[in-house]
Amino acid sequence: MNILITNDDGIHADGLLALKSAFDEIGKVYVVAPDRPRSACGHSITLHKPLRADRVRLRDGSIAYATNGTPSDCVSLAMLGVVEEQVDLVVSGINRGPNLGWDLTYSGTVSAAMEGAIMGVQSMAISVATYSNEVEYAVAAALAVQLGRILQSHRLPESTLLNVNVPNLPTRQIKGIAVTKQGKRRYGGNIEKRTDPMGRDYYWLGGDDPVDSLDEGTDVKAIADDWVSITPVHLDLTDYSAIADVRAWGVEQIQLID
Ligand code: MN
Repeated sequence: MNILITNDDGIHADGLLALKSAFDEIGKVYVVAPDRPRSACGHSITLHKPLRADRVRLRDGSIAYATNGTPSDCVSLAMLGVVEEQVDLVVSGINRGPNLGWDLTYSGTVSAAMEGAIMGVQSMAISVATYSNEVEYAVAAALAVQLGRILQSHRLPESTLLNVNVPNLPTRQIKGIAVTKQGKRRYGGNIEKRTDPMGRDYYWLGGDDPVDSLDEGTDVKAIADDWVSITPVHLDLTDYSAIADVRAWGVEQIQLID
């Protein structure tokens, strides 16, 4: 099995090396990852400047490719040339920080797995749900490998990927593993206004803890209760239940004017 590993925390992140070391046991691992942290870059791609993929050595001595692109670019670069063999599995992570609810729309980690799914390869994103610097990657790494084995014999539906979140706890404190749906997590939109030494205003976005809706069966609820959360995520963002309503508003009868 050929496994492509990428992330959004950058090529030197501990979570990337933990994942790589774990997958070394079950297949041939290729690492193509951003040369710097790219968290919260979403599914952006690089169109207006050249992309580089430089050979670098990871701390275990293995060769990897550091790119100046986004996580999604890394998957494209790998599939379209850097990795000369067929990739069987894309694994993105292990991210330091949760990817729950509406985080998915901002997440570079999840976007890399989305890019894998777009390219028709079995893909998963995996995150440890903590903002602490003391991160326990071993549990998530071992779980990722077990999920990778399952994905060898079970195909995800077309355009579907797995989004996995693991509590930052030793195994004995984790309650279990739940297959969940995407929940709701809202950031308060906190913006701090400050003044720089030149007297110009600047703004700093975020900083507040997110507000989670702790609905049963969701990823945010599972993590709040110290469960591992595994969500099958589909690339189709259509709200099917709203199609009839929006039609009924007469939008298809609007007269276009030039
Ligand atoms: Mn990240």
